Amino acid sequence: MSFSNVLGQGQAKHILSQALSHSRLSHAYLFYGPDSIGKKLMAVEFAKALNCLSSAPDNACGNCDSCRKIESRVHPDFFFLEPTKSTPTAREAAIKIDEIRELQKKLGFLPYEAKAKVAVVDQVEKMNLQACNAFLKTLEEPPSSTVLILITSNIYKLLPTMISRCQGIRFNPLPPEHIREILQKQEAPEWNPGEIDLRVGRSQGQVSRALSEEATQTSAYRREMIGLIDQVSFKRMDLLFQWSKAMSKGSEPLPQILDEMTGLLRDLMFIKSGGNTGQLFNTDLWAELEPVARRKPLSHLLKMAEAVNQTQYALSGNANAQLALETMLLDFCEAA
Ligand SMILES: [Zn+2]
Repeated sequence: MSFSNVLGQGQAKHILSQALSHSRLSHAYLFYGPDSIGKKLMAVEFAKALNCLSSAPDNACGNCDSCRKIESRVHPDFFFLEPTKSTPTAREAAIKIDEIRELQKKLGFLPYEAKAKVAVVDQVEKMNLQACNAFLKTLEEPPSSTVLILITSNIYKLLPTMISRCQGIRFNPLPPEHIREILQKQEAPEWNPGEIDLRVGRSQGQVSRALSEEATQTSAYRREMIGLIDQVSFKRMDLLFQWSKAMSKGSEPLPQILDEMTGLLRDLMFIKSGGNTGQLFNTDLWAELEPVARRKPLSHLLKMAEAVNQTQYALSGNANAQLALETMLLDFCEAA
């Protein structure tokens, strides 16, 4: 086990191994990028490399006492914090001020056995405001012999004061070959080549998406969206209201709907510019996508993609979901 345990992310690995081999470590790192592409795994591997008892300065052996303890999260100088629900029925998980204070107390002591204490805070955007203010003090005056690793898939939700106190390291969606490698290594279930192609295409470079049930089970729902893209216009406002009502009552979360829409619009533009089936996100829907791509001008598709993008941005703030969705659909009509 070592950095090679993390697939892809060449740039992040390069920056971190340079820091290790030149002993030029930052007090705090911010690993950011989409979900499920290796940020948490990299944080653990980095913590191991920092404290590995073997001689290699920029990698972890995976076998020594320190590496094993960090791997199984029982090392007394390795801390891992993630959002939890205060009650089983609570709507959202959060990182609370008590947990931050507890962490600060632990970081106040000298390391028991490590060269450097490492604290990983996953989904740091889920700190509530009080916790955030308390944590900022740690970032401003970091305890000695400590490395903090903050992880987020939504950097836009972080306070600028938090971002500016960390060294940012960007993580990118995994290329198709790595997603394919992960899928092929799965022992159960075993997928046939067609299903693997579909999962790779629909993963957007994220492992959890490639493995999820929805990867292949949403074809009816995606077909409906293609119909909407094809037919929506000011003359067919009925479709707009039907669809937005169905979406607001449906079980799919809005960000996921918008992601699907982006994927479909991307595929339509891709077909329009002469792309082949193998490179589509939705490899299973070529027959439905192709005639729509033929009918729709590229400029209409581009305007729609822009409208989806703006809606995603609005929702990453505090926009009203229903209103944002309707505005997007009106933009669709305008584009048509
Ligand atoms: Zn080791």
